[in-house]
Amino acid sequence: MIETEVLIVGGGPVGLAMAVELRYQGIDCILIEQTDSVVTDPKVSTVGPRSMELCRRWGIGQQIRDAGWPKDHTLDVAWVTSVGGHEIYRVHFPSYENRTLPDYTPEPEQVCPQDWFAPVFQNYLGEYPGGIIKFLSRLDSFEQKEVIHARYMVACDGARSFIRKTCNVDAPSFHPTQKFQSVVFKAPELATQMGKNHAMVFFLVNPIIQEPLRAVDGRSLYRLILKPQEDGDVRDAESAIRAAISIDTPFEIVSNLPWFLTHRVADRFRVGRIFFAGDCAHTLSPSGGFGMNTGIGDTGDLGWKLAATIKGWAGDRLLDTYEIERRPIAVRNLTEARANLERSQKRPIPPVISSDSPEGEKIRAEMALGMERSGVKREFDAPGVHFGFRYESPAIIPEGTPPSDDPFQWQQSSYPGCRAPHAWLEPGKSTLDLFGRGFVLMCFDSTQGVESWEKVFQEKQVPFTSHYINNWEIAKLYERAFVLVRPDGHVAWRGDTLPSDAGALIDRVRGCF
Ligand SMILES: Cc1cc2nc3c(=O)[nH]c(=O)nc-3n(C[C@H](O)[C@H](O)[C@H](O)COP(=O)(O)OP(=O)(O)OC[C@H]3O[C@@H](n4cnc5c(N)ncnc54)[C@H](O)[C@@H]3O)c2cc1C
Repeated sequence: MIETEVLIVGGGPVGLAMAVELRYQGIDCILIEQTDSVVTDPKVSTVGPRSMELCRRWGIGQQIRDAGWPKDHTLDVAWVTSVGGHEIYRVHFPSYENRTLPDYTPEPEQVCPQDWFAPVFQNYLGEYPGGIIKFLSRLDSFEQKEVIHARYMVACDGARSFIRKTCNVDAPSFHPTQKFQSVVFKAPELATQMGKNHAMVFFLVNPIIQEPLRAVDGRSLYRLILKPQEDGDVRDAESAIRAAISIDTPFEIVSNLPWFLTHRVADRFRVGRIFFAGDCAHTLSPSGGFGMNTGIGDTGDLGWKLAATIKGWAGDRLLDTYEIERRPIAVRNLTEARANLERSQKRPIPPVISSDSPEGEKIRAEMALGMERSGVKREFDAPGVHFGFRYESPAIIPEGTPPSDDPFQWQQSSYPGCRAPHAWLEPGKSTLDLFGRGFVLMCFDSTQGVESWEKVFQEKQVPFTSHYINNWEIAKLYERAFVLVRPDGHVAWRGDTLPSDAGALIDRVRGCF
């Protein structure tokens, strides 16, 4: 029998991230994955900026950056009647070699398809028994032939989750399910043929296809999303690629797989000692690339809470806050992804759109104006979705006026529940690098001593450090003289004076309420 603290079921991106976070927190865990782990249909393309910040914490950020995406490859998104046909509208994004770091994160998003980033995580974790991943191992019931005895189980077994269903937890649909096809193909000459008109994503706008064609590896691999025929039959991949690309380019089809776009959020994220994370707990439209990133966000919230509970310093209610904090974020991200999807699906496409005639040109110009006005860029540049969410739970102590919840008004904030702001402490060292395993008190006032706090944290055996930061700009960004940050990098409390009853405050943020 294998004994472990936490059994993780499912070695997709979220299960892998959960295992890495628990490992980082020093918790013993085993991950079982039913397949041999080889990714044949790399759905995920982009690791979002908040997920990249977690990768930075785990020490694998640079490996994700170096995984293979060419630094000089265009990141533009172009709306076209076909690749090589008429271009309607284009959003320019500088390539990685030309971009400057935004002021709100040390780790902007990174294109890294699933078949590249999964091995980075797998290498970090290693294969059982030396490491912790057991491939070709499927959970068929909660009692296996090969018994794994665990205190907690995290179900990362995807959208069809056997575990969630066995726990009788429903994940109701927010919107009707849609069927799509994902066609992966190689077109090794396309980038050179397109030259300066190449893009990372081509959104096809013609009467047959209104879906994206996306560069997967920045070299020869592409993915075309398609709607099946009206009678529901799978479309022929070859003719669809020919309808999508109007220049003569050689191509080879790698796969043509159907998939279902669902918008579901589980009613509960926890049943007893079983937790649901990733697509098992929520599925959303890929438009915006929030799906996996929402799941990786789950692991950042759950990981330290499991670790604190197993190590014995959490309050009894800390694990309850996982669902309270994360479920609303799943709904928030689902809503954003849905808005992106509707923006492209509701667009009327007159057949003349592809025509060389003045009428065709007029329609394309009008459409470009509409795209500019409706902010199509939002789908590809949404830091407010990745960072602007805010937790509300009994373990977070509100203070002051909450910032706007509109992702497109987002600014860094130290309001409790928000991700604590990033600023450079010195070249290469972010404020975020101070957070990870214990509570951190960010101090901007040296006149009030924090010794009493240190003592109370110590008495309660809660890991704690304090940092006095003598930097006016960072103090302004942090808004208060004292900001208490949780291991997941979210603010738990802030104030201009240290409360006299530190014990009560500490109890609340560690889940004793
Ligand atoms: C076309 C497309 C493009 C996308 N692009 C993006 C993107 O760019 N960015 C983004 O953030 N998201 C994207 N997504 C969403 C993303 O793919 C999912 O959100 C993500 O894969 C969810 O990861 P997961 O680990 O929760 O589940 P999954 O990836 O489904 O992994 C579940 C794993 O559990 C294993 N498993 C299941 N049952 C058992 C069992 N009983 N025992 C053992 N193992 C089991 C499965 O084999 C599988 O490996 C995209 C989705 C699609 C369809």
